Amino acid sequence: MTRLIFLGPPGAGKGTQAERLAEDFGIPQISTGELLRGEVKAGTPLGLEAKSYMDRGDLVPDPILISMVRGVLQQHTQGWILDGFPRTLPQAEALDELLTELAQPFDVVISLDVPDEVIVERLLSRGRADDNADTIRNRLQVYRSQTQPLIDYYSSRGCLQPVNGNGGVEELHTQLRDLVIEAKK
Ligand code: AMP
Repeated sequence: MTRLIFLGPPGAGKGTQAERLAEDFGIPQISTGELLRGEVKAGTPLGLEAKSYMDRGDLVPDPILISMVRGVLQQHTQGWILDGFPRTLPQAEALDELLTELAQPFDVVISLDVPDEVIVERLLSRGRADDNADTIRNRLQVYRSQTQPLIDYYSSRGCLQPVNGNGGVEELHTQLRDLVIEAKK
């Protein structure tokens, strides 16, 4: 059983690497960004509420995310990779409680580190609706102020594995796969 948490700034390559690892270990990739974009596209009440935050590059309020992830994790008892959640301390604390309740401990938290210049370049070339220069700047700021504290939160508990994400996709994938195999031993 494999359970992974993936941290890192927008554009660090989390989505791409999470997809590869999900395939390697036969587990679902749970991307909260993808789930939210699905809700927006389907025009659900949740999607309507989330859209304005996403368009600005702000975080969608914690209670929405926490109840969404609770629902998803209850359905996935055979392992998962969380991509884009948690992004705030309250989300991380809620996740701890939820995983205790579900008796689903995670194996490791991976944080991908990538320099700012590379991030901006990657995001601008990705062409998603929320990938314009202003929104990117805001998303980086939001990451620094709200998500970066999670690095300490997990590292002080000895469960963080920082990885330099500024390399080729293939090398990074091999490195991450080996790291996960090691973490599961
Ligand atoms: P992503 O695809 O991970 O870059 O997420 C796209 C957008 O969805 C973010 O800019 C946020 O507005 C929203 N979002 C995704 N995950 C979360 C989360 N864990 N907490 C709050 N907002 C989120």
